[in-house]
Amino acid sequence: MHDPVYQLLAVWIVIHIVDGAVLIRRPAIVFSGWGQWYRVQSGSKAVFGNARKALVILRPWPPFESGFVTEIPELTVTSTAVLPYAVQRPGRKDPPDAWSPLDAECLASAQAEHMSVLGIDCKADTSSILEAERLAAACRDFAAASTEEDRKALFHHRVQASHDVLAIRARYADFGRESALIGVLGPVAWLVSLGSFIGFFYVPAMWAHWYLFVLVTVALWVHVLVEFSRVHRRFYPTAVGDRVTKLFMLGVSLPALAHARTFLARDLFVGFHPLAVGCVLLRGPTLHRFAADIWNDVKNPTHGIGTRSEAEVERQAMIRSHRALLENEGLGTQSLEAIPDEWAQRGFLGLCPRCRSVYEVAEGTCSDCVGVALVKTQ
Ligand SMILES: [Zn+2]
Repeated sequence: MHDPVYQLLAVWIVIHIVDGAVLIRRPAIVFSGWGQWYRVQSGSKAVFGNARKALVILRPWPPFESGFVTEIPELTVTSTAVLPYAVQRPGRKDPPDAWSPLDAECLASAQAEHMSVLGIDCKADTSSILEAERLAAACRDFAAASTEEDRKALFHHRVQASHDVLAIRARYADFGRESALIGVLGPVAWLVSLGSFIGFFYVPAMWAHWYLFVLVTVALWVHVLVEFSRVHRRFYPTAVGDRVTKLFMLGVSLPALAHARTFLARDLFVGFHPLAVGCVLLRGPTLHRFAADIWNDVKNPTHGIGTRSEAEVERQAMIRSHRALLENEGLGTQSLEAIPDEWAQRGFLGLCPRCRSVYEVAEGTCSDCVGVALVKTQ
């Protein structure tokens, strides 16, 4: 074997791993895995990235690893205002930024035209173009609603729809069926192409029939593109730009073929609350831990969010929806708030109800979570 071939193979392996990287906003959450084995990858804990964005790396063996990106957007359309921060911020201990002049300007001109360029102008940074479009639509609805009652109805409908576990289960099952073929076809096309390539260079017996291998590779490749386009159109009918970009990637990059299904999975649950998606994908202790993080976060906001009356109304609505969802799924909120006995036995007197850090004193506030008062462990 000569060196350039090794180098090319090495480059392909690197591209294969890079194709498994998912760029998200720091507060976003990725459910990655497959079947019964999903885990939570949080952007706030990811190693790669900067203060705003993070790279989450999926395990490099598709089709057994998909990542569903979910997030609580940094722009909350409530029944009374468009707030330039998230009402919930799981994993974050600092208070939200003060309203910047740009945000105030954005809010003052909550007009349909302005909101259509939301992603750029209003700092409503999102992990997905679909999420940005959804937010823009919510802002347009907000601006178009004539009475406060209409706005309340829109808000409650949005919160309820985002907690619709039945809809998530149905979408997940539908995706499993529709993406089954491409889940196999993609990796097969990748392996066959790789095999043809190696054979072309090292197996003299294949040289006489080179056109057969080219034919099979091209046929598989085209099949992947056609199938990808069909499934993408079914789940994201309006996202034409996203479809074209990903088809282009699949058309030019051989290792990307293996990730065809992963590309489709990414935005499947845009618009659903991470807690509701977690209830569908996670099991046992993983679900319990995740639900406890989300629940204790919304119950114990860092200083700044809960003190603003517009946000407080929405936070209470969120708490009601979370509670109904959790009880329906058999996760009592009491067990999520429970304080382990061992902490009291070990002499810790205080506990931060948000980040669950323990303290030797029972009074005061958490040193990490701004403004969150400690609770007694006994
Ligand atoms: Zn804390």
